[in-house]
Amino acid sequence: MPADLLESQQKMLRENWGKDTGLIDKIKIFFKYEGMCLGDGKYLDYAVSVTDRIFKDYHAPMVYIDTFPNAAIPCYNKSHGHALGYGRHIAKGNRDLCVQVLEKNPTAILACESGSAEYLLDVMHVTYHKGLFHVGYAIPLFSTVYQGFLEYAGWWMWPPYEKDEDFTSNLAFSTHLGYMPGSSVGGGPIAQLLQLKATPEDPKTKFFNATVDMRTKYRDYVASGERLRDPVVEGASPRELHWSFKGGKYPLKMSLAPVLASRWEKNNEKGKELILVSNDSAQKQAVVVDGHKMDLEPYSWHGLEVKREDERKITGKMTVPLPAAAKGNDEVKATEGYVFGPVLGIDIEKKLLTVESVDSEGNTAVKKTLKFQIMPESKFEAEEGLGKLSIGDMVEVYYQKQGEGQEFTGIVEKIIYKPEGRKPEEG
Ligand SMILES: [Zn+2]
Repeated sequence: MPADLLESQQKMLRENWGKDTGLIDKIKIFFKYEGMCLGDGKYLDYAVSVTDRIFKDYHAPMVYIDTFPNAAIPCYNKSHGHALGYGRHIAKGNRDLCVQVLEKNPTAILACESGSAEYLLDVMHVTYHKGLFHVGYAIPLFSTVYQGFLEYAGWWMWPPYEKDEDFTSNLAFSTHLGYMPGSSVGGGPIAQLLQLKATPEDPKTKFFNATVDMRTKYRDYVASGERLRDPVVEGASPRELHWSFKGGKYPLKMSLAPVLASRWEKNNEKGKELILVSNDSAQKQAVVVDGHKMDLEPYSWHGLEVKREDERKITGKMTVPLPAAAKGNDEVKATEGYVFGPVLGIDIEKKLLTVESVDSEGNTAVKKTLKFQIMPESKFEAEEGLGKLSIGDMVEVYYQKQGEGQEFTGIVEKIIYKPEGRKPEEG
């Protein structure tokens, strides 16, 4: 920045704040722009009136406020009546703008950039959420925890798409995380499809349209509901995909199954859930999702509305993979089961044993916790009984699977203690 502008800023600081000239001399000012202060009542009134006019004069249903909420820039203007420097006035000013616009326009929809701030959750509706733009390094926790408060756009996906599935998998993945298709930076998928001259018959276009239709149909779940724990998908192996970020830079290799699933609770209807499943591949897929058998067309979405009560029963009998169900036999009987894994819990009084099983689904390890009932006829090998086992012991368990409504997975027929399963340092 030009020295004179920097000097003028420093002069302003000396005059209005002026306490520590040594500090002011060291200040580097990165932006030429002067951040307006919403802690200034006059500027707040102005900002509210401009926004209000967009709704009143142009009848816009929605206003997008760019680079909002404002970065926390300290303000030293004594005439504003707030504490000098940083302070509550920064967040309060942002919030007051939204509150006052909504008071004047109760049906208005407010959208903003980077609006993932807790103090705006009840007054902001849509945000271009950049909290996650590199899935390799980030945990998409904010959009998961606060799903239903805001709608999130802004998942970063960029060409080149070497294969159609590079596009469709990226779109499917972000949709399961609760993002709506679209973004401002990079134009988002619609602009990209136009740039790529994708025809209506292009798989990318078809899957994009299917995604929009799905979100419209299930918006009470996916847009405004609550995201629950992801279902377990059995029967689809991961394949390698290539994603890009920020104008095609930073290529990222992803290993993802063609079938992804998420689970949602309906807005304001406790117990009504949606199992949402996508097939972003060119092949048909046959899978079992949380115990539900599904056949999926290429590049398609499938929603299964369920009641939690019914699901508990299914989950109760589906805590281990059921080959019988996967093969098309919907009637699940008590069948023989087997698991090998570490002991997680021992309840001598109730004669219950908890064991962790790790199944591999393609390259993905899926951990499950299985609870077993020990009966007088249960046999122990290489160990005398439940009381002799310790947490962390590796065991093989042969058991009879239990039907629905049971609090445990099975009744133990035989437990084989495997001392070689423990590391020497563990004793
Ligand atoms: Zn101020």
